[in-house]
Amino acid sequence: MKFFIATKNKHKLTELERILKPLGIDVMSEADLSQPLEETEETGTTFEENALLKAKAGLLATGLPSIADDSGLCVDYLDGAPGIYSARFAGEPTDNAKNNAKLLDLLKDVPQEKRTARFVSSVACVFPDESYFTVRGECEGYIATEPKGSNGFGYDPLFVSELGCFGEITDSQKDSISHRGRSLEKLYKKLSEILKEEK
Ligand code: IMP
Repeated sequence: MKFFIATKNKHKLTELERILKPLGIDVMSEADLSQPLEETEETGTTFEENALLKAKAGLLATGLPSIADDSGLCVDYLDGAPGIYSARFAGEPTDNAKNNAKLLDLLKDVPQEKRTARFVSSVACVFPDESYFTVRGECEGYIATEPKGSNGFGYDPLFVSELGCFGEITDSQKDSISHRGRSLEKLYKKLSEILKEEK
């Protein structure tokens, strides 16, 4: 069985490929298309809506069951911002250093107990009959007062989890508790159930 993965991010593609392989699912990505996919406008108001928009665009372009994700950082003191705007928090194109500087600035002098935050990852899967499901993974933590470490990407140097700052812990430590690790685990479970029912 073949699925289309609607992401331009090579890291996410490899991760999804690894997870879906044991289910007998081969993946196809944008790189395998004769024409590049048009950029999907992320007009949704939730991570789920944006993940679904991207997955539906994949289905429309390929006719294959399609998977897409949307993720971001929600900071309680900022009423959930940057949330779905995480990538473009400090404007476009995405600039991680500027995003982190803006976040630190907005949280200047805010004490640790009020710097609570969570990473969220929503994954959507749509089928050719237009049925779909979404799954969500979250990881709780707080925002540091200065960047730490050089591992990971995006807001990782500022996000402190139960295992330490995402900028300092190893990839496998991050995978074991991360929002994406958790949403992909749920995706795996849900797809195994669906494929079992189909047999
Ligand atoms: P997207 O889901 O790939 O569009 O990611 C949205 C944005 O959320 C990224 O550009 C990052 O700024 C942020 N983000 C999502 N997941 C992570 C993560 O695991 N670490 C750090 N930043 C993340």
